[in-house]
Amino acid sequence: MALGADRQTGEQVLAILGFHKIGEPPTGNRATWFYVSEATFGSFLSRLQDDAWHVLDLQTFLVGVAAPARLPERSVLLTFDDGYRSMRQIALPWLLRFGYPSVLFVPTDFIGKCNEFDAGIEPQEAVCDWDDLRELQRHGVSVQSHGASHRRFSELAPGELEEELHRSKATLEAGLGTPVEAISYPYGDGGVDPQAVDAALERTGYRAACLYGGGPNRLPVANPYRLARLAIGPDTDLRAALEGKIQRRTS
Ligand SMILES: [Zn+2]
Repeated sequence: MALGADRQTGEQVLAILGFHKIGEPPTGNRATWFYVSEATFGSFLSRLQDDAWHVLDLQTFLVGVAAPARLPERSVLLTFDDGYRSMRQIALPWLLRFGYPSVLFVPTDFIGKCNEFDAGIEPQEAVCDWDDLRELQRHGVSVQSHGASHRRFSELAPGELEEELHRSKATLEAGLGTPVEAISYPYGDGGVDPQAVDAALERTGYRAACLYGGGPNRLPVANPYRLARLAIGPDTDLRAALEGKIQRRTS
């Protein structure tokens, strides 16, 4: 495995793909842009394989963010927001087929419930329960924080923000017995005072935080708490997005 600079650009690339729901919406609902069909998802994974992208597990990713020389030249992290049960039922078999690890960002107040946080906007879907999360972890899906209440960080008072960071991490660590060191911001909202948010993330033991939108990250990253993430929908041209030609933002 070659390490170092990207062949075409002379730069190391770390692309983080942001998915939500894989498969079809519940009966009687129309699919929104946040649904990626099984066939399209499979084609995305094939694309990564064909184009020789290295799909990282979370530990390799975290080490690489701090020490980029340790990463392959074209690295990808697969992430899924909101913790839907379709992750276990639909996405996991595909990930296993390709041997790809991934990260699931779960809002902990909704474990075993549904996505009440976007009622009236998105179809209501089951969110994984603890059994689902344990099963996913056993098969290479690292379960990490997406906050607790799924509120926008811009709407949280400083004390509430710190409480969300701490509580979501503690809940997952107690329930799964594995470290929680990464978070994706609900709605991609990194807060009104980024410096204060970064400080709170550091105090509460996080090593990386993902926004939603933007292109591939060039290494070394400017700030591990402000990582850009490719917003992936059914119409995404993945190859163009990975080359930094598309920087769609949808939240
Ligand atoms: Zn979310």
